[in-house]
Amino acid sequence: MKRLLFVLSVFAASAVTLFAQELPKSIKAGQGRLKARRTIHMPEKIGGYQLLKCDFHMHTIFSDGIVWPSLRIDEAWEEGLDAIAITEHIEGQPSRRGIEKGDHNLAYEIAAKDAARRNLILIRGAEITRLMPPGHLNALFVKDINALTHTDYMKVFEEAVKQGAFIFWNHPGWGVDSIRWYPVHETLYRNGWLHGIEVFNEFEWYPVALNWTIDKDLAIIGNTDVHDVNERLYDFSPSFIRPMTLVLSRDRTEEGIREALFAKRTFIYFFDTLIGKEEYLQEFFGETVEIRPSFHNENGRKMLEIANLSDVPYRLERLDASPAYPEELFLPAGRTIVVSVPDKEQAGIVYKVGNMLTGVDKYLNVRLDF
Ligand code: ZN
Repeated sequence: MKRLLFVLSVFAASAVTLFAQELPKSIKAGQGRLKARRTIHMPEKIGGYQLLKCDFHMHTIFSDGIVWPSLRIDEAWEEGLDAIAITEHIEGQPSRRGIEKGDHNLAYEIAAKDAARRNLILIRGAEITRLMPPGHLNALFVKDINALTHTDYMKVFEEAVKQGAFIFWNHPGWGVDSIRWYPVHETLYRNGWLHGIEVFNEFEWYPVALNWTIDKDLAIIGNTDVHDVNERLYDFSPSFIRPMTLVLSRDRTEEGIREALFAKRTFIYFFDTLIGKEEYLQEFFGETVEIRPSFHNENGRKMLEIANLSDVPYRLERLDASPAYPEELFLPAGRTIVVSVPDKEQAGIVYKVGNMLTGVDKYLNVRLDF
């Protein structure tokens, strides 16, 4: 009997433990990807205008892209942009099986709420997609993309302009044997219906198109034209910055960007290269490079620091025939280098910045005061 009581009590005790140790409904494991916006270090202002980082050409599943519109917002926000335009092919819609042909405004409308929640400016745009000529052109700031669906493309341009669109010619050298300014481009230009040209697209740039923007006084534009996830399109390192149009805007608003585009206050950035008007690039360089006072002298030479405060590295080549000064200077992004120069005040040793272009084979020249 004593033995039986012992067995029963052990049983009872273990039953109590079993009920007391109720299992948790779930156990957390691992860690999600950090969702935070990076800061791209460039001058905040140039010529008194705010410098805004913009990408005006990209696609989603609503034409031939493979992502949902809200992903474009998350990407752009995390990558430090101020504004984007989702520009679906009007004629190519739908190009994915299973996606219904329907409302051309849908991609914008889906992304708009996400953009507002991220403080990102989303511009309503569309890609007019015809064979060359005229090729592909983006219309930004349109009000209703569904109204841009005539078979006659001149009617489409007319309607876009009626809606207040800023129109630029996309990748003029893509998918063609030679890059040409066709009579239809002349007509659009003379009508005042062509306002800019995409000189950079995805992985390529078009020197002839750069000359057109200069000769015809059109806005210079550079975009990703991303169809995939952006991180899968480009070789993403922590320092990677996506190709973009830099817009000098009176404020950080859609209307500000619109005014700036029509006023052609733009320049472009892609893979360490900046292209645009001399005045913009000169101020960009001047605002971000600091030559600091000498801290050491030795054998008639002084040592000093040159700091690059921007995320753009600079490659400098000396143009002056002054062999006592460094022939080449590489100023890495966000870093400081030390140089040794003759121990005297020397104003204006001229260097060419190999990754800042003001035209085809025309480089920005800067004067370094040592
Ligand atoms: Zn496109």
